[in-house]
Amino acid sequence: MKKTLVITGGAGFIGSHLCERFLSEGLRVICMDNFITSDKENIRHLFRNNNFKFVEHNVTKYINVAGKVDYVLHFASLASPEDYLKYPIQTLKVGSLGTHNALGLAKEKKAVFMIASTSEVYGDPLIHPQPESYWGNVNPIGVRGCYDESKRFAEAITMAYHRIHKIDTRIVRIFNTYGPRMRMHDGRVVPNFIYQVLHNKPLTVFGKGTQTRSFCYIDDLVEGIHRFLFSNINEPLNLGNPGEFSVMQLAKLVLKLTGSKNKIIFKNLPQDDPKQRQPDISKAKKLLKWEPKIPLETGLQKTVNWFKS
Ligand code: NAD
Ligand code: UDP
Repeated sequence: MKKTLVITGGAGFIGSHLCERFLSEGLRVICMDNFITSDKENIRHLFRNNNFKFVEHNVTKYINVAGKVDYVLHFASLASPEDYLKYPIQTLKVGSLGTHNALGLAKEKKAVFMIASTSEVYGDPLIHPQPESYWGNVNPIGVRGCYDESKRFAEAITMAYHRIHKIDTRIVRIFNTYGPRMRMHDGRVVPNFIYQVLHNKPLTVFGKGTQTRSFCYIDDLVEGIHRFLFSNINEPLNLGNPGEFSVMQLAKLVLKLTGSKNKIIFKNLPQDDPKQRQPDISKAKKLLKWEPKIPLETGLQKTVNWFKS
């Protein structure tokens, strides 16, 4: 019998790559999305696969899936700061009600459950790099609070279902990931800079550009998620690339790779923008024998090529 996997947010950037990976291994994939931040283009090529089924659904409403389900992956969320500033209530709902519904489905089907959590649970971190044991520094009432707290709630309810209902759960704390199929106007820094370079616009660096992020290429993340899902680890795991770069370094790298002479301009730093971020991945290295392989330059080049085409 083929295993069946349900993925919410499956038409999004990370979700569509996961659909592809699990289909390539012969699983049946049921992808659920309401296209609030994506469109059918990301998954159009999957419709010819008989093991792929798409359901248009807002997962903050009851989730109904007929038949057996072995894995439930809850990846639906607003994910870019620009998106969750625009839709704060939907962000809170998909992280709370959506996670509750997805857990309910996993409980009903006795399925393994995975939640896409985030480095944002650490907020503007006071510990560097961030290990899973760090509880974070989050402003609950700031403009990013809707996202950070929705994910912190999602982690809490996931652990409650694990403890009370004995659901086999996985909490993956994803650090900034980039690659093909990000939306050009998604607002996140990598697609923004690439869009600006390709359209001869100045690169917009927020603040002084000294804030840091650690950027992971999508293929590395997918491999880590795959290993984690098929492990038996119920504790949260950080997945990301520990290579840390300032936003200014990123801007200069994008200019160098594209041979562009575009200007860099400075804009106000958004409220509560974390000053630094780097995953401590010792746990994933030890437990999953996983670490990212694709350096930033290589990943950025692949992403630029995809955006060009
Ligand atoms: P994305 O915006 O491309 O994908 C999210 C998908 O969820 C979209 O297709 C959107 O339409 C869908 N969605 C949102 N609300 C929904 C709802 N109520 N019902 C059904 N579908 C809904 O973003 P992404 O980068 O692919 O992020 C995927 C997941 O990974 C998210 O949970 C995000 O919080 C998490 N994450 C991503 C990153 C990253 O760097 N890309 C980092 C940390 C965490
Ligand atoms: N950023 C920037 N210019 C842009 C978009 C983002 O300087 O055009 C900065 C942003 O302020 C943050 C970093 O880049 O410090 C990463 O932002 P992103 O939106 O990608 O994700 P975050 O890690 O903040 O969730």
